[in-house]
Amino acid sequence: MGAIPCYNDGMHTPRGNLTREKGLAASARFAHLAIVTLMLIVVVGTTIGCTNITEPITNEPVDGVLTVHYLDVGHAESTFIELPDGQTMLIDAGRKGAGPGIVAHIEALGYVRIDYLVATHPHDDHIGGMLHVVEAFDIGEVWMPGFDHRTQIHDNFVDALDAGSITTHTAWAGDRLHTAPGLTVDILSPIEGVKYSNSDPNDWSIIIELIYGDTAFLFTGDAKTSIILAATDNVVDVLQVGHHGSKTSTNEELVSILSPSYAIISVGEGNRYGHPDAVVLDALSSVKVYRTDMHGNIVVTSDGTNITVYADRNVLVSHLLVYPTYHASFMRRAA
Ligand SMILES: [Zn+2]
Ligand SMILES: [Zn+2]
Repeated sequence: MGAIPCYNDGMHTPRGNLTREKGLAASARFAHLAIVTLMLIVVVGTTIGCTNITEPITNEPVDGVLTVHYLDVGHAESTFIELPDGQTMLIDAGRKGAGPGIVAHIEALGYVRIDYLVATHPHDDHIGGMLHVVEAFDIGEVWMPGFDHRTQIHDNFVDALDAGSITTHTAWAGDRLHTAPGLTVDILSPIEGVKYSNSDPNDWSIIIELIYGDTAFLFTGDAKTSIILAATDNVVDVLQVGHHGSKTSTNEELVSILSPSYAIISVGEGNRYGHPDAVVLDALSSVKVYRTDMHGNIVVTSDGTNITVYADRNVLVSHLLVYPTYHASFMRRAA
């Protein structure tokens, strides 16, 4: 095993890093994944590039597993996705200090390439670690919203993309990032022609819907409730709760419409914003909620039909009556 993943964003005390036992189990998993990946590349081939959404899913899921890692990066966001056809996607990269930990986590899974790198919006808690990521991995293509936000961190990221001649796309609803049998990854927002704020990058957050077989995942960045609901009214199984659990991004109407079974909140312990907001947790009272500040890294898998949640730490979230049970896997099975 290489370095133990740890995250240090200056706002968050790392806890519950992967144990050696879990790490060894993970090694076996990486070998298995590598074999499955190679087989799938041969069988399925690779599809890179953006296409427009024109046709519904007609194929059965490939014989693979979708694995979504909601990384514990403090009060920030970073989600690494192992697509069932062996391709990889990283949505956001936490704050600057989290970069090395994110890179270590992905390398420990056995990957050297990120096929799709998505910067949902140019806030430091979402693109801070991008420079580390771009320098560490072979990058396929990058997707960013068309919002020009001049900060040193953003400029350094863009300069690194230019230096590496990495293809960069401006994301708009209707763009399809990737498709494979049973799998679609679509951008739902921002919507071309809509007047978003000139001053708030959150409104420009790239919203992504990932459908694999009968299961659906939604990634919302820091978009506010009205923008998420303008983008979709599709039912989702796993909702990445918007804006770290801020009340601006989740309400009862949204939960009622999207009807998630699982909600993942990427949030830092003791953050100064009071996230997740109590009204958000109330709105999610019928949903199984997992939080990176309590559960650490949260991993959700889908075989196209069944969803399984794993977490670094078993935690009793008393007000939600979630009782994760231990599972002897590379992480603890949470539900
Ligand atoms: Zn933001
Ligand atoms: Zn944020």
